[in-house]
Amino acid sequence: MSTLDPRSPLVLDTRELGRRAGAMKKIQFSVEAPADLGVAMIAVPPQSEIDFDLRLESVSDGVLVTGTALVTVAGECSRCLEPLTYDTEVDLQELFEHPETDARGRVTDTGSDDEDELPKLDGDYLDLEPTLRDSVVLALPLKPLCQPDCLGLCIECGANLNDEPEHQHDVVDPRWAALAELATESSEDD
Ligand SMILES: [Zn+2]
Ligand SMILES: [Zn+2]
Repeated sequence: MSTLDPRSPLVLDTRELGRRAGAMKKIQFSVEAPADLGVAMIAVPPQSEIDFDLRLESVSDGVLVTGTALVTVAGECSRCLEPLTYDTEVDLQELFEHPETDARGRVTDTGSDDEDELPKLDGDYLDLEPTLRDSVVLALPLKPLCQPDCLGLCIECGANLNDEPEHQHDVVDPRWAALAELATESSEDD
């Protein structure tokens, strides 16, 4: 009995591939992104299109899936908090093992209890979603930036310094004022 839903867009049918080691099949398809694909600050918007370009390869232990997923990412800049969105290609690589079976061909280990084990084929099906989730989260930046040299926000008033790079405040702290005077004097000497 398969526990995977073959109608799920991220459940792949490997039947056509065959079990002969070395058999290979290339597939390209698009799905709508599932919910909660990403992290708090940056994620793939639900229902946005994900374009897969995959290669399924029959190996002695199971089916090796390699390829890419082209995703749209949306979030906010970690410095200036402006919304940002971009497309990125996520590398995928996962070996889906044939489940171990006993002498009668009954599945003895579905692998579902152990997090460290390789994902298992479920009959002819494999579920790409956990692989996609792990790969997307790994590919997302910890501190997303709207541009590599984003100037961030003014720590005094929160103004976006990208909009006004000359932005500054009159210095009120007397120590800084003294420094500012020195700076003015030295520039007058030039
Ligand atoms: Zn920014
Ligand atoms: Zn300011």
